[in-house]
Amino acid sequence: MYPDIDNGHIYPKNCRAKQKIAIVIPYRNRETHLHQWLLNVIPLLRRQQADATIFVSEQAEVENFNRGMMKNIGFIEATKYDQFDCVVFNDVDYVPEDDHNIYQCLPQPNHMAGRPEKKGYKLYYGGFTGGIISFRTDVFKGINGYSNKFFVWGGEDDNLGKRIKKAGLIISRPLYNVSHCTTLRHKVDKRLPLR
Ligand code: UDP
Ligand code: MN
Repeated sequence: MYPDIDNGHIYPKNCRAKQKIAIVIPYRNRETHLHQWLLNVIPLLRRQQADATIFVSEQAEVENFNRGMMKNIGFIEATKYDQFDCVVFNDVDYVPEDDHNIYQCLPQPNHMAGRPEKKGYKLYYGGFTGGIISFRTDVFKGINGYSNKFFVWGGEDDNLGKRIKKAGLIISRPLYNVSHCTTLRHKVDKRLPLR
């Protein structure tokens, strides 16, 4: 559908964007979601005139899923590929609804998914960092990324919250409806262990 997109790089044709962004999607076995995400977010990025390269960080079926590790690996591979000002970690089932929810980095971590559909579009909880969050690349390196120790489901996002706090940073969030995100449905809400 997008023959003009080369290697996942979306950029405006008539101007230069302020930031070069890497979008890292931790991924395994959610193909329908990936299609839905691409079909909705690529047009959004174009409307925002973003310069973004999409990296799908896919884990093989040999171990339990480790979302933090997939994000760290995606980040490291992205930095080998190009020089980015900004990294956005985006779960494959989170799609921003508001064009004002801009894929960009602020001096502080920018949590773009404060009000997910599945939580009734309410702020999930104060320290929530999951769904979609952006960091300036130097800031993400400064907090030493995500923990690699959380397998199966959960934990790595709250641990990230602690790393942010420890570094003296504050999570910024778009106000109110701007951080509304559609959350794509999936049967299991927990990542099941392989064995
Ligand atoms: N994920 C994946 N495959 C899996 C488990 C998780 O691709 O088997 C990725 C995917 O990006 C997903 C994110 O990790 O959106 C969060 O996992 P999940 O949706 O299971 O957790 P939830 O936030 O719904 O509790
Ligand atoms: Mn989910």
